[in-house]
Amino acid sequence: MNPCLPIEPSRPKARRSLQARVVWGSRVVTVGGDAPVRVQSMTNTDTADAIATAIQCKELAQAGSEVVRITVNTPEAAAAVPHVRDQLDRMGIDVPLVGDFHYNGHRLLSEFPACAEALSKYRINPGNVGKGDKHDKQFAQMVEAAMRWDKPVRIGVNWGSLDQELLGQMMDENGRRPQPWDARQVMYEALITSALQSAQRAEALGMRREQILLSCKVSGVQDLIAVYRELARRTDHALHLGLTEAGMGTKGTVASSVALSILLQDGIGDTIRVSLTPQPGESRTQEVVIASEILQALGLRIFVPSVTACPGCGRTTSTTFQELAKQIDDFLRLQMPVWRKRYPGVEHLKVAVMGCIVNGPGESKHADIGISLPGTGEAPAAPVFIDGEKRLTLRGEAIAREFQEIVETYIERRYGASVPAISEL
Ligand code: SF4
Repeated sequence: MNPCLPIEPSRPKARRSLQARVVWGSRVVTVGGDAPVRVQSMTNTDTADAIATAIQCKELAQAGSEVVRITVNTPEAAAAVPHVRDQLDRMGIDVPLVGDFHYNGHRLLSEFPACAEALSKYRINPGNVGKGDKHDKQFAQMVEAAMRWDKPVRIGVNWGSLDQELLGQMMDENGRRPQPWDARQVMYEALITSALQSAQRAEALGMRREQILLSCKVSGVQDLIAVYRELARRTDHALHLGLTEAGMGTKGTVASSVALSILLQDGIGDTIRVSLTPQPGESRTQEVVIASEILQALGLRIFVPSVTACPGCGRTTSTTFQELAKQIDDFLRLQMPVWRKRYPGVEHLKVAVMGCIVNGPGESKHADIGISLPGTGEAPAAPVFIDGEKRLTLRGEAIAREFQEIVETYIERRYGASVPAISEL
């Protein structure tokens, strides 16, 4: 049967949101509008330890985090923030810092002006700004600090700290409905109402609308999808997207990837954070790697060269190809902080590391550089494909090292300042 129409490639939808500017010095990170979806992360150091915090901020920034959030919970932490900023500036790391405030943000921002100035954005949780008649006053104090220092804010609602007075009031109203909603639906509505009402209050206080970002984080995938779809329908504020308390390891990675991808494909989310609990000994930068990979897998951003590797099967003769794929992947990631500047465009490189002849040559030809390692019953040789053509064959114990050298030479020649013909390889 002949097809009548060509199949259109799938693409994420576009949602037009307002654009906020998160600024430090000459570094401007735009969020929302026509800006690319941004990657954020958060430190887990005690901010009062300025050196440890600055080191972790540097690691996160070098891994690709475009904005880094730090906890500002005590006077000691607030006093340390300008030192964190100084340390980063001295190291040449201009990543903007966001202060994460709960309970006492109004006091810390007024009592520590150097902290208020050194931060590039404030996170305000309307569920944690004070109870009763203190709520509006303390919220206003934080917004006024943001306006005084010309900083954007994220009104970050979280179902773990949802404004209980608002929720109680909405539960009461629900009880008076002829057909009350499910408690979960009331909670969804309370999350969104808390964010939108707070944004309206901030605007009424004089905050520029585009400088207000919103988030409504929950820890269930389907809950997050439901809440953000409705939030996006009701507002044009830029949205910070993340599955809160996603968990550890595979569970946290999969849950975040699934939830964020579905929403990003709908065009929802202007900046993302993967709230991964690090496994013992695991680097904090893993959350940045996963967030970047989600955006890259969806075709929304390109951060690092991609390494295509087959899963291996009964035809795989050894673990050589797995080791080689990991080695090349690690090597490319490690080099990226330097290569980004030295080799513009290198992030578009595609490398394939395949386990046998079945898909090896075909997949390798689709890549810029590919290697097909010998499978069961094949001659102990590994053909290397460059720009779709077989160029040479590697043999012996040093295949991994030689292939890495070929990749490096290719990058230097293709993306370096002088660009000789690839055929010279
Ligand atoms: S390329 Fe070969 S080794 Fe890899 S999964 Fe396919 S058949 Fe198995």
